[in-house]
Amino acid sequence: MSFSNTTINISALNEHRDIGPTLSVVVPFYNESEVLAEFHQRLSWVLSQISGTTEIIYVDDGSVDGSQEIVKSFSAINCTIKCIALSRNFGKENAMSAGLKHALGQAVVIIDADLQDPPELIPKMVCKWRMGFDVVTMKRTSRAGESWFKRFSAGCFYTLLNKMTSLNVPENVGDFRLMSAKVVKHINDLPERTRYMKGIFAWPGFKQTTIEFERDARYLGQTKWNYLKLVGLAMDGITSFSIRPLRIATILGAMVASSAFIYGLFIITKTMVYGEAVTGYPSTMVVQLALGGIQLLSIGLLGEYIGRIFVEVKQRPLYLIADIHECKQSEIKHENLASIRENV
Ligand code: UDP
Ligand code: MG
Repeated sequence: MSFSNTTINISALNEHRDIGPTLSVVVPFYNESEVLAEFHQRLSWVLSQISGTTEIIYVDDGSVDGSQEIVKSFSAINCTIKCIALSRNFGKENAMSAGLKHALGQAVVIIDADLQDPPELIPKMVCKWRMGFDVVTMKRTSRAGESWFKRFSAGCFYTLLNKMTSLNVPENVGDFRLMSAKVVKHINDLPERTRYMKGIFAWPGFKQTTIEFERDARYLGQTKWNYLKLVGLAMDGITSFSIRPLRIATILGAMVASSAFIYGLFIITKTMVYGEAVTGYPSTMVVQLALGGIQLLSIGLLGEYIGRIFVEVKQRPLYLIADIHECKQSEIKHENLASIRENV
């Protein structure tokens, strides 16, 4: 079934979460034609072992390599498959937001398509959710295929983020996680346009637990992030959850201004006592450069916040949907499927 109508009443759909599937798996992907078939095979095998109904929500974030056609060709044997095609590349954060809006499950798992997050861990996550946890985060104990510089800069960023914001965003915990419908609803209700999802995921709180896992290297293909994009994401993370950088700029300004005042008094006194008039060129330069640097930094910081206010007030949608393709769970049941489900 295929709709081109993008004005589906999502909030009405969300009202019916309690009668929706047990589990939704949200998979944002962008140009992942090399890995999708293997990913889908592994994921659907895993879902066949979970009792209850399941759905996979693939979000095509503007792929141009035929990934969407691959997903549309998948047959829904153990689960319902939806493919939400965005009208262009809106970025992973927005693609995840689109997936969460359309997920109707009582629990929702977010997973990358490149098999860095093993789908085989989903039953463990579901187990924790059935034990009463609302959020099951997945902590990487190893980050195979990532350079030491990426690991080091990620470590520095998380320390900075947690110091600068009142959030507790744990290090080495990515987007791979399970959330109950209650948490997903609160996240969907957040109106902001700057979607730094690791911060947004941490914001609602609720009962949390963590499972540790070894993160594999990418199955095939290339990462979609470069350092410039990561720096942008880091700036989004800090500025959308804290105004502490502005406060630091104010404190720094006050400190520099008061030391300048004290230094001024010192110079005046020195001139009056010793009558020195023209010396002190190096110290003047130092003070000027220091002040200029701090001023530019503070203006840049202000600009970061104003830029974000600009994005927020425009109230543009987070993404546009070009097409939704849905493939309902087939009536065909594997002979041994029922017995496998009973054991889980
Ligand atoms: N992704 C996306 N939109 C983008 C970039 C990435 O939906 O603009 C998807 C990508 O296809 C993958 C997941 O987000 O399923 C993680 O991306 P990637 O593996 O490139 O990131 P990394 O694992 O290197 O952080
Ligand atoms: Mg990856």
